[in-house]
Amino acid sequence: MPVLVMKFGGTSVANLDRIRRAAKRVGVEVAKGYDVIVIVSAMSGKTNELVGWVEETSPLFDAREYDAIVSSGENVTAGLMALTLQEMDVAARSWQGWQVPLLTSSAHSSARIEEIPTDNITQKFAEGMKVAVVAGFQGISAEGRITTLGRGGSDTTAVAFAAAFDAERCDIYTDVDGVYTTDPRICEKARKLDKIAFEEMLELASLGAKVLQTRSVELAMRYGVRLRVLSSFEEQSDNAGTLVCAEEDIMESNAVNGVAYSRDEAKVTLLSVADRPGIAAIIFTALSEAGVNVDMIVQNISEEGRTDMTFSCPTNEVARAEAALAKTRENGDLNFAEVVADTAVCKVSVVGIGMRSQSGVAAKMFKVLSDEGINIKVITTSEIKISVLVDRKYMELAVQALHDAFELDKAA
Ligand code: ASP
Ligand code: MG
Repeated sequence: MPVLVMKFGGTSVANLDRIRRAAKRVGVEVAKGYDVIVIVSAMSGKTNELVGWVEETSPLFDAREYDAIVSSGENVTAGLMALTLQEMDVAARSWQGWQVPLLTSSAHSSARIEEIPTDNITQKFAEGMKVAVVAGFQGISAEGRITTLGRGGSDTTAVAFAAAFDAERCDIYTDVDGVYTTDPRICEKARKLDKIAFEEMLELASLGAKVLQTRSVELAMRYGVRLRVLSSFEEQSDNAGTLVCAEEDIMESNAVNGVAYSRDEAKVTLLSVADRPGIAAIIFTALSEAGVNVDMIVQNISEEGRTDMTFSCPTNEVARAEAALAKTRENGDLNFAEVVADTAVCKVSVVGIGMRSQSGVAAKMFKVLSDEGINIKVITTSEIKISVLVDRKYMELAVQALHDAFELDKAA
């Protein structure tokens, strides 16, 4: 029998009614002849509550106990989903991560999946079981301790199962009906995409379109798992939602397929650092050791052997960055005139695989922003993305203007 993986996020299993509704969707796929692996999240809000309890009990908590506690939300939904299916006369049972076993590294709270042996579940399918309900987000380390995969990790569980079982597709049921060209809350013309390439999705996911855990998209790309994002609240047709797939599966693509943004960015400039080998290494080693997530980096032209170095990072990491840089100066490792931080900027990006073959995208983007009177502070590009930092007060305007100019409201 072909295998299908169906993952239900927290809002799709938020109460017994919704679990019943999700179970009906599973029943439809079983009736089509699939062996189904259902991956469930905790009921919405549950994981946050558990994390809160951990922090209240022990501010410097033991990460192994954190995982033991926060993984428990998924156990409840897995059992309830299996019971609900049984009530519908669908042969189903639940599995916790350790029972599969889903083997992970021992990096508690952000463990990596190492292996998913398939024999156990395959055997049950052979014996007539129709649905394996697996608790998402959790696994077991070589030390025999419960681990979790990081917040949003059930998406990654789902993709890993789809890869391990060579599933026909991995359907991710959530509270939105797909992936949009941009955030519909700030641009009313945002359009649902029928298809998006893995690489575009990665850019959009890490830029704040929080539909899928980024790691799950990386994994899907590596193993060629066809991922479909769809709403569990709407009646479904066979081509509902958005298919996240290989570039080769997309015939025609616009130059730009999405406009992403990230609101809380800061631009930090080190004025007058020496322009010689090793300086950038000192700066960015200090920042990385301080846990600062540096995004864009620009070095100015140098004058008389000195230059300015600019980087961007999340607003709430600026203080840490400043402290780390001050320390390098105190130690005598680095000499600079001043650190200047601008904490009122945002990042706006246009993303599209079509950029590989079409030129003029950057020129058009800059023209659109200039027509709106928006000053660009920093620019970076990759093969399929152009990002700019602009004043935060222009964020909505920039997104809307770019969405219009690249005609993202129309399909390719
Ligand atoms: N329940 C976990 C979380 O809220 C994992 C997930 O739902 O993907 O992060
Ligand atoms: Mg999620």
